[in-house]
Amino acid sequence: MSMELANKVALVTGGSRGIGRAASIALGQAGAKIAVNYMHDDAAAQATLSKIEEVGGGGAIYQADVADESAVQGMIKDIEQALGPIDILVTSAGIMSAQHHSKLTLENYREIMTTNVDGTFIPIMAVKDGMIARGGGSIVCIASVAGLRARPTMIPYSISKAAVIGLTRCFAAALGPQVRVNGVAPGLIETDMTKDMQSSAKEAMKEEAFLKRLGVPEDISQAVLFLASDRASFVSGQTFVVDGGRVTIP
Ligand code: NAP
Repeated sequence: MSMELANKVALVTGGSRGIGRAASIALGQAGAKIAVNYMHDDAAAQATLSKIEEVGGGGAIYQADVADESAVQGMIKDIEQALGPIDILVTSAGIMSAQHHSKLTLENYREIMTTNVDGTFIPIMAVKDGMIARGGGSIVCIASVAGLRARPTMIPYSISKAAVIGLTRCFAAALGPQVRVNGVAPGLIETDMTKDMQSSAKEAMKEEAFLKRLGVPEDISQAVLFLASDRASFVSGQTFVVDGGRVTIP
């Protein structure tokens, strides 16, 4: 199993930190060359690449805003020249904010939608034709359980992740049979994104979960690895909930 992705090239958006970092390491350990995308934090991206190398993998880092079409197209050209054509795309770049609806603004809504929805749509659009022409590819979109349940204090985020789940289904229908498109919907995962959440809220979530713990990025990267690999060769259009059992609570 360990080198099942040998000779594959994977682009992981938001690969520098959190869930994207764990996915980059897991795919790198399985033998894929990893293009680690990031937006601001060059040092974090370098650190991810070092961790990929520590587990025997390789790749390179690429700065680009996933919501900027020409930047993404330029990045993909650079990746293909340096590492080869992209076989696997993982869209993990994302942002989140929480506020009462009385504090919500159109600007805030647009910022979240731009990064989370345009920032998933644009990379998929940029890799899909190459994958189809080469006869295969796998795309894994990181959604959220917030896209499956109403989150009254995270309205734009919740809407954006529902859109990512819809986008996963639509592209799966459109890009088959050559390309599989699936998603992972994480529950609360301990990363920079969630580090400022109140500990009382985290404790409550832990108690609600069947498995009585919060998630770590490696919980998600194993699901990504499965969906990206040929072990999921008959799976497309699905969004796989990985949340310790919380989402099933009515
Ligand atoms: P994180 O630790 O905050 O990392 C976010 C990553 O996204 C960083 O690598 C960041 O790069 C990158 N990024 C943000 N905006 C970008 C842009 N416009 N262009 C390119 N890269 C960009 O977040 P995380 O917790 O790993 O979350 C990863 C994904 O999982 C997100 O889509 C999030 O919504 C989803 N998710 C997270 C949780 C959770 O509990 N943590 C739960 C469900 C779903 P820079 O640092 O360089 O800006």
